[in-house]
Parts: sequence; C-alpha cells; structure tokens
Amino acid sequence: MTGTVYRLEVNPRIPQPLERMEELANNLWYSWDRQTRGLFVSLSYSLWNLANHNPKAFLKRADQKCLEANADNPIFLGALDRVLAAYDSYHERPYMGHVHGQCFRDDDLIAYFCAEFGLHESLPIYSGGLGILAGDHCKAASDMGLPFIGVGLLYKEGYFHQKLDAEGRQQASYHDSDFDDLPISPVLDASGQELLITLNLPDRPVFAKVWEVRVGHVRIILLDTWLEQNSLQDREITHRLYGGDRTTRIEQEILLGVGGARALAALGLKPTVWHINEGHAAFLIVERVRSLLSEGVPFEAALEAAAANTVFTTHTAVPAGHDHFADEMIRRYAEHWCKGVGLSCNQVLALGSEPGTSDFNMTALAVRTSRQHNGVSRIHGSVSARILAHLWPQIEPAESPMDYVTNGVHLPTFLAPEWLETFERYLGIGWQERQTEPGNWDGIRQIPDTTFWGIRQQLKSMLLHLVRSRVREQHLRNQGSPTHLDRMLRIADPDNPNLLIIGFARRFATYKRAALLLHDLQWLQEIICNDDRPVLLLFAGKAHPADLPGQEIIRRITEVAKQPEFEGRILFLEGYDLHLSRTLVSGVDVWLNNPIYPLEASGTSGMKAAMNGALNLSVLDGWWGEGYDDSGAVPNGWAIKPAPGNLDETQRDAEEARTLYEILQDHVIPTYYRTGPMGYSPEWVAMAKHSIATITPRFNMIRVLNEYAQRFYAPAAAHGRRFAADDHAVARSVAEWKTRVRAAWPGVSLRALQTPEQRLQFGASLRIEVAVQLDGLVPEDVVVELLVERPEHASTEILYHPLTASGVTANDERLYALDLTPDLCGKLQYRIRMYPFHPALVHKFELGLMVWL
Ligand SMILES: *Cc1c(COP(=O)(O)O)cnc(C)c1O
Repeated sequence: MTGTVYRLEVNPRIPQPLERMEELANNLWYSWDRQTRGLFVSLSYSLWNLANHNPKAFLKRADQKCLEANADNPIFLGALDRVLAAYDSYHERPYMGHVHGQCFRDDDLIAYFCAEFGLHESLPIYSGGLGILAGDHCKAASDMGLPFIGVGLLYKEGYFHQKLDAEGRQQASYHDSDFDDLPISPVLDASGQELLITLNLPDRPVFAKVWEVRVGHVRIILLDTWLEQNSLQDREITHRLYGGDRTTRIEQEILLGVGGARALAALGLKPTVWHINEGHAAFLIVERVRSLLSEGVPFEAALEAAAANTVFTTHTAVPAGHDHFADEMIRRYAEHWCKGVGLSCNQVLALGSEPGTSDFNMTALAVRTSRQHNGVSRIHGSVSARILAHLWPQIEPAESPMDYVTNGVHLPTFLAPEWLETFERYLGIGWQERQTEPGNWDGIRQIPDTTFWGIRQQLKSMLLHLVRSRVREQHLRNQGSPTHLDRMLRIADPDNPNLLIIGFARRFATYKRAALLLHDLQWLQEIICNDDRPVLLLFAGKAHPADLPGQEIIRRITEVAKQPEFEGRILFLEGYDLHLSRTLVSGVDVWLNNPIYPLEASGTSGMKAAMNGALNLSVLDGWWGEGYDDSGAVPNGWAIKPAPGNLDETQRDAEEARTLYEILQDHVIPTYYRTGPMGYSPEWVAMAKHSIATITPRFNMIRVLNEYAQRFYAPAAAHGRRFAADDHAVARSVAEWKTRVRAAWPGVSLRALQTPEQRLQFGASLRIEVAVQLDGLVPEDVVVELLVERPEHASTEILYHPLTASGVTANDERLYALDLTPDLCGKLQYRIRMYPFHPALVHKFELGLMVWL
C-alpha cells in the first residue's frame, strides 16, 4: 500500500431502545448467560465472530442501519426485554443469597487475589486452569451474593496465540488488546479522575491505573502499568501474562500483591478476608504488615493479625510450579518496603526462606502468612502436606494444617445451552438453585434415551463443524492442498456424528503426558483405525513458549497424525481457549486425562465434560480420585489405576499406556458401538446419565464456594476481628506467646514414669503418668495427650485422651497423669505426645511443634 495509512474507527450511535445493550456488554454476566450472547449473535453472526465474541467490540462496530432497524423491531425488542428482565432480577436477588446472610456481616468483604482470571474469551487475561478456576470462583461468588472482590492484573497482550506450522511447530504470537474494546472500565477517584496508584520499586516510582470488570454482582479490580507516566521498561510489567524474565515476574507479583492491596485501600475498601489464590499474590501480606507497622503494631503481632484472616490456596503439585526468587533479588525490593517502618530485610526474607537453599519461595511465604491453607483435591491436599512438611517440622503430614477444597466448575458457563430445556423439564424448575443437592439430579435418569442421545448428537455435530472450520483454516494457511484436506476431514463429518470422539485438551506440560496414547502406534492403529467402529482423536492445548519439551509433544502428535494410517483420525486443533474448550467438552464422547500420578492437582475440564454427558477416562488422580464411582449398576466413567510407585518412568508409562489401550479396546469402544435399533448404545447412555447425576452435584462451583464460605472465609473473618480487637490485643498476646514457646521448645521433653502394663481386664483402669520438662513454660501452655489406636483394624480411628497436670517431681518436672479405662477389647496401642496450646490459635498445630514420648 503506498501513502500514509490513517486509521479511523466509526462507531454507531446506539438507538435509545437498545441503550441498555451497552450495560449488557460491560458485564461478564454474558459469559454464562447464553441468551445475552444470543442477542448479539442474532444481530450479525459474522460480526460476532469478527469481534471475537466480544459484545462491547461488537457494539462499537455494529452497522448503524441494522441497529436502527432492530430498534423498531418488536421481535428483537421482545428478546432484549426478556434478557434485561433476567439480568435485572439476577442483580436484584442473587439466586443463592442465603449463604451470605448466614455467614457474613454487612461490613465483611472477601478480597480474592489471582494473577489470571479466565471469564470469557473476550477478556484475554488468562492462560489456563488457574485462570478459569478464578473466573468461575468470581462467577459463583456473584451467584451466591457473597461480599467479594477480585484483584488481578490487566495484561496488554495477555497470553500468547498459538498457531502450528506445517511441521507441527508451535508459533507463538501476541496481539495487543485495545482496552477500549474490552469489557472493562477505568475506576474513578472521588474527584472523577482516573484512579492511579503508586508503587515504589528500586530507584523509581511506578504508576498503575486501576480498572474494573463487572462479573454479575462482583467486581474485579485490574492493575495496568501500560502508561505514559511509566518508563518503557515499567510498562512491560503488565505486558504479558507469564512473560518476560525473573525481574518482570517479581515486579508483576509485587504489583499484584502490594499494588492490589493499595488499590483496595485507595478505593476505601477494607477487606475482612484476604484470599491468596496461588503464591503469585503472596506479597499482599508485606503491604498489610507494613501498614500495621505504621500504626505502631510490632512486627510479630502485625504478622499474626494479618495472617489470621488470610486464606491461601496452592494449585500445583509440581515443584517447578512453585515460584522462587533468589534472596538477593528479594532484598533489592524489600529494602524499599522496610524503609521507615522498622522492618528489616532479614525479617522479610525469613518469611519465604526454604531450608537448604538461598531462595525465597512464594508458597512458603503464603503458608507462613496465612492461617488457613488448602490444596485443590483430597489427593493434592495430602501431597501438599508432604511437600510443605518442613513448615510444620514436628507434625506428621496426616495432621498437617494443610486442608483441601476440591475444585469445581461454574455450571452455567460450561453447560451447553442445548441441555437447558431438557434439564428444566426433568429436574424441575429451579434445578440450578438446587445444583448441589444430589437428589436434584435423579431426574436425569428419566430423560428418554432418544431425547438424551439426540442432544448428544447435536452437540457432537456442532463440535465437528468447528473442527472442520479450524482444521481447514490451519491446513490452507500452511499451504496444504484442498484434496488432502478432504482426506483429513473424512470422518469428522457433522452430518454423521455417530462415531466415537475422544478429546484431550489441556496445557501441554510434560507431566500431563499428552502423547501417552501414542505409546504403541501398532496397538493404537488396531484400536482406532477400524472403519466399522471409527474413532476420532481430538487434541488441543498450548505449551508455554519456554517449554520446549511440551512443544515437542505437540510436534510429535501432529507428526503421527500425518501418517497415512492415522490421517483424519487424529486432529490437532490450534488455539485452545475458552470458546474451543466449551465446544470440546460438550461435544466429545470421552474426555481423556492421563497425567503422572500424583501431579495433577485437580483438573477441571473433565468436570465440564461430565456435566455435558461425556464420559471421563482418566488416571485416578486429582478430582477423579474422588469423582470416579463404580459402585452402581454401571460406572460413571473409566479409571486408569496409577502403576505401582516402584517402577521407573519408562516402565510406568508403558504400564499405564497398556491399561489405557485395554480400557479402550475392551470397554470404551465395545460399549459405544453396542448400538440398539435406534442407533445408540443403551449402556453408554446409562453411563452418561449416571455420570451427570453423580458428578455435577459435587463438582460444581457453588459447592466449592459454599465450602470456602463456611469453612474458610467466615471463620477467617471472625479470626481477623478477634485478633484485631482492642488495638490488636489478641494478635499481640499470641505473638508474644509464640516467641516464648519457640524459645523454650528445644528444652521441653517428656519422660515415662513407669514400665507400662501389657495386659488389662475389661473394666479395669490403667494409671499413666509422665514427667514433663517445661523449661520455663507453664502447664497452660501445653497439651499432653494420649492417642489410642487399634492396629489390627482397618479403621484408622484414633481416640484422644488428655493427661492432666498432677503435681511436681523432685527435680522440678511437672507430673501429668491419666486413668485410662479402655472401653474396647482386643489389641490396642497407645502413644503420648505434647504440643503447645493457646486458646486463640486458628489451627492447633500451626506452630509445627510437638514432642512424642
Ligand atoms: C477448564 C479449562 C482448563 C483447565 O482444565 P484442566 O482439566 O485443569 O487441564 C484449561 N484451559 C481452558 C481453556 C479450560 O476451559
């Protein structure tokens, strides 16, 4: 093109009857309300796609004539009215508002910090599972009317866009977002100016603009350094999600934690619960402690006060997933935090220290500065307790303060709208409000098989449409020939969706073993290349640009997909995002997940697949360890039992690949193709219904938020108030007590006083007495207790009996005694231990101190 190109965007004037469409476009409510999205689509399907499913961008480019015509069109206005009525009634009365009233006070506010939020493809500030989960968390908080605010970063380019070249090499590209197009608005201060906060980084201030996203009732605050006031380098802080180098990363995390806490303060908000969602956000504690120090609260007490109402969730079992920074790096930034508040760098460093390294660990920081911590599935909870065992050195991992809340997904976001009418008919009106009640889902079994299968086929057909258009685009862009394209799409035929479709889509981290299915190509060919029982394998997922092994797996899959025998039967779809994810999880028959046990913290895509009637075939890891159920007439999916732990990597992969092939060959494929006269397999449909009925009530986000609200947020708010009352009196006294106990503990010991009896008649009692060296502590500072177990019994129930202080020995030890009268017969075993006790502790083992006899 010759000559200078000037760009100009012409925006339509929105006619008055359509004015509220702008409000709809500015609230992520549309990310789970299909009717709202349908309204935009109905104006122009092609513009909807051009605008990347973004209602706000859509409205800015909509054709003036089209808008005017519809402003006069009673049918369109009727549809708009219905959407607005639903929108208004949702905002007037959150559909699950009862929890709020039970658990929270009017002045409560939960601040939820996360580095990414995945709400919808129109707001590209997420990369994968963590972000989607955070997005779902906010959506469910809105559904429940919780007093809740999200805090995150606004990335100029978000996460990378993925393309594959003809050889299957991943090409990462980045696109600038036009912030005017995104469903966000600048936050204004009291004087109507755009709110900026200032952050002090070494040798310079950095400014961040504060934006907000509306998600139903809930707001998410996003910080953005892409500002003229900042140096080019500082603008880069919010350039890319998980981009840049270590300096970028630490500055992003400081911005998120410290800047996020400042932004809340600038808005006049005083959260009563602080949720650190993954270690990235843990620096928030530094800012909170600093502000308490400036009020004159001593460091140790400030820490107790801040930790009391802080909740931390860890999301990974993979060591590389835990953020580390060199101590030296932390020191450079910490000097600025410490200035003028009487804090020393070493105090900050100690909070993130890890034994045996000179690294600062963000997970350790988060655990040390929160009093409630959790993993994201039962298995992950215990794995985390083991990984972090050094933080409670004298506590066995089984009794670790590390708890768990198993993840879930936001049902309205991921349930295909094709189900809605049928669910309403068979589950009854209000079924969404009852989604956590197992009984609510019994009605699924009443859906006639033909109806059920009809919807499934429709969803599969829609998926195949998308597959065709994506594969075509990808193939032709790479200069592939049209005749070859026909071959590739031979079995992916939307007009004939009755073939078994297996989906595998997720981040291509190596522990997820995306290529496990390709372990034995001969065997795979036998399984999937039978024209009487065709099988289509769909892969999608991005590998982080720095993850070369992950990219190699993508290349390997596309290489195998090109071998003549597999052509058309294995397809790789580029650009896994929320849109592709929604279509995949609702359109496949089988959702495959085969990570290395126990590295899958939870996984959530399988839950999305299950609620849409797909069946899970997964390693018993993460959520599937709890979700798999084979107790009924039919199982709700298939389970790959992890190979025994003593195998090496190669043997383990071979063993688990074999199990996978056997399940496919002996169960999945025969069950799918055992079709009756109507063209579907009754047994398959029974399994799919059982899967919806058993999985959806447990693995939805409302159940998750209920758990967080009742077990974490409400107690945290109460602890926070207790610790802060009377100028932080409880925080001060707990801090002083902990200092005293920690100092005395090395000198504390237990000593047995008698040779124990070995036999006892039922009804008789046993006198147990121990001498305790308290080394300056007083009896009120400790609990001495006896644990009784029955080693021969499968049940692991333990009975606890306290010993009571009963005198002093000659050498100034304390006596503790108990008359034990066992109320069971058989072989028992007992142990005696002592640990520090203070009535104000949040978790009785939070000090990590204990001695055993
Ligand atoms: C649900 C989802 C994920 C997370 O799924 P996993 O099972 O944890 O891998 C990642 N990316 C997208 C786009 C999703 O929708």
